[in-house]
Amino acid sequence: MKISIPPSWRTRLDRYRLKASKCRDCGRVAYPASSICRFCGSRNIEYIELINEEARLITWAIIYSAMEGFEEKRPLMIGILETINSKARIMAPLTDVLPEELKPGMLMEPVLRRISEDNEAGLIHYGISYRPVFKRVGV
Ligand SMILES: [Zn+2]
Repeated sequence: MKISIPPSWRTRLDRYRLKASKCRDCGRVAYPASSICRFCGSRNIEYIELINEEARLITWAIIYSAMEGFEEKRPLMIGILETINSKARIMAPLTDVLPEELKPGMLMEPVLRRISEDNEAGLIHYGISYRPVFKRVGV
């Protein structure tokens, strides 16, 4: 029997692993993955995962007026990061850090975190956030 995974679930797995595309022509990495290189237009693409790569914080936004359902996350911190090896730019929520602790160039790592809970359906949504490497237990 063949079981096919619904497209939304497949995309979710890609998001959990930070699936990116690497151009075999210009060498640049794009996240989220794209079948066409956004830098040179080439279709000569390979897919890589960024989930094991640390990243440096480039800049961030702090949102104090979090939308309904995200009150406990206030202030919401959204960062733009660049992965160390692949040089991919990623926009993602920041976690385990206070706004005043954020610094440009700060070394961060991806972690899977609960994003929200759909109480009616009983679903818990997860997503990738970045936390400072210095907050990792045992470092
Ligand atoms: Zn390219």
